[in-house]
Amino acid sequence: MEKSPEACLHRYLEAESLLHHFYTYFDYCTAVCIPRLLSLTPGLPVAACCRDRYHTIYDLDHPSFDLLRSRRHELYGKPENQPENSGVSPCEYHGSTGCRLKDHKSPVCLGFMCRPAIDYLRKKHAIFTYDYLGFHYALEWILTGDMPPADWDIFRKSLETMIRTIKKD
Ligand code: SF4
Repeated sequence: MEKSPEACLHRYLEAESLLHHFYTYFDYCTAVCIPRLLSLTPGLPVAACCRDRYHTIYDLDHPSFDLLRSRRHELYGKPENQPENSGVSPCEYHGSTGCRLKDHKSPVCLGFMCRPAIDYLRKKHAIFTYDYLGFHYALEWILTGDMPPADWDIFRKSLETMIRTIKKD
């Protein structure tokens, strides 16, 4: 499998796109968590799981991470040049309506799912294959090129299966 940063980023963005697809059907964050937080502080922004500058804390010192970051900067600007901050999260990319990044997120941001969300996924959709740490490290390995091709196939197919399952519920 091609291990250049460009090829690794390409696969990582494919995984990100599949995860976005999954999240368009998984409604815990938008239907349960965010509305509950908004009701506690009406009219004010909420941070939900964006409680720190995770993209700087967890990103690895690796050429593929550098490439991901530089593409993110081209698309969305550097953290220090963001126009406004929500005031409820230290993350520079967190604006009044949430994360400004539509793609090119860090693995930690992309893979995170809190315990209540995982419980909801299990209870409502009988999906037991998502565990936050497993996804986080899998996304890191995809980005660094350390995930073997056979595992990449398994990972992608498992995400596709999750999407099919959640779509039919
Ligand atoms: S980059 Fe986006 S998802 Fe990650 S912590 Fe900041 S606001 Fe949240």
